[in-house]
Amino acid sequence: MNYVPAEDRYERMVYRRCGNSGLKLPAVSLGLWHNFGHDFAHQTKRDICRTAFDHGITHFDLANNYGPPPGSAEEAFGEILATDFRGYRDELIISSKAGYNMWPGPYGEWGSRKYLIASCDASLKRMGVDYVDIFYSHRFDPDTPLEETMGALDQIVRSGKALYAGISSYNSQRTREAVAILEDLGTPCLIHQPSYNILNRWVERDGLKDTLKELGVGSIAFTPLAQGMLTKKYLGGIPESSRAAQGKSLSEGWITDAAIESIRKLNAIAERRDQTLAQMAIAWVLRGEGITTALIGASRPEQVSDCAGAVGNLVFTRDELAEIDAVAQE
Ligand code: NDP
Repeated sequence: MNYVPAEDRYERMVYRRCGNSGLKLPAVSLGLWHNFGHDFAHQTKRDICRTAFDHGITHFDLANNYGPPPGSAEEAFGEILATDFRGYRDELIISSKAGYNMWPGPYGEWGSRKYLIASCDASLKRMGVDYVDIFYSHRFDPDTPLEETMGALDQIVRSGKALYAGISSYNSQRTREAVAILEDLGTPCLIHQPSYNILNRWVERDGLKDTLKELGVGSIAFTPLAQGMLTKKYLGGIPESSRAAQGKSLSEGWITDAAIESIRKLNAIAERRDQTLAQMAIAWVLRGEGITTALIGASRPEQVSDCAGAVGNLVFTRDELAEIDAVAQE
């Protein structure tokens, strides 16, 4: 049966302006890093994406190498675009990236013009789209002049293959340099994609969060749930279907007794707020004005619904924030 998105989808979500740009992003965005490769049933991928859109999640984040195998997440999303989301392209913000290893040889990773432009072309082909909304340099390349990497992003935007440019995981100093180069080129940096969650606060220590605010660049925080650790799922052991059990990017070794104890305390705070722990973790990332959107992942549609519900309570008391800080510092 044809998919018809929920009519009230835009009332379910909160939209926040991305830096100084004209673009608004949903407070919760969906990433396709895991669970969109050949190791996952296509129907589940469709259900996850449909549920996201039904909740007003308009932003889907990809990269050339998401899979496995690399490229397969973009292919799967291309199929979903052609079937379920046909006719809705103008309601979607699709992003992709290049920076990590994608094909053999010296032109298959990092930040050269050669790699970025070829990779963007390949991503468009895999997804079957004429353009992506945001194209990112996925990581800083210490061996390529930043002018070349930013020049490639500028060229990608000017040639109509992307509407906006972004950078991911650049530290505060490199971000300042990249933003200045892009500004000179006339293609402002729309967005920065760093990791950020209650247990991982490098963007605060590095000064990146303040830098982005100062420069008027938006931000999308990846792994807001610490890959699932900031949910209830590991409180009763390691479920077989979980990311940790599958030995993916989350190691079983991180689920220590001390970590579980902290998660239990955070869960108690969330319960007092009448939220699930996942919802509180997302709300925490979005507190104040520093972060535009929280970029979650999901292995099941119910997880997406739960996470989207975070927008029901984005406000923290000072005491709650202090309590969360105290647990995170243990
Ligand atoms: P999260 O921290 O949101 O972790 C997602 C995982 O948490 C899910 O796979 C699921 O685990 C679990 N989960 C999600 N919601 C719930 C829920 N409500 N209840 C219980 N468990 C839940 O983010 P990811 O690590 O998946 O990263 C998100 C996105 O960020 C990626 O898809 C990608 O787009 C981007 N990213 C970018 C990077 C970069 O370098 N720029 C690097 C890494 C990610 P389970 O699978 O065990 O069910």
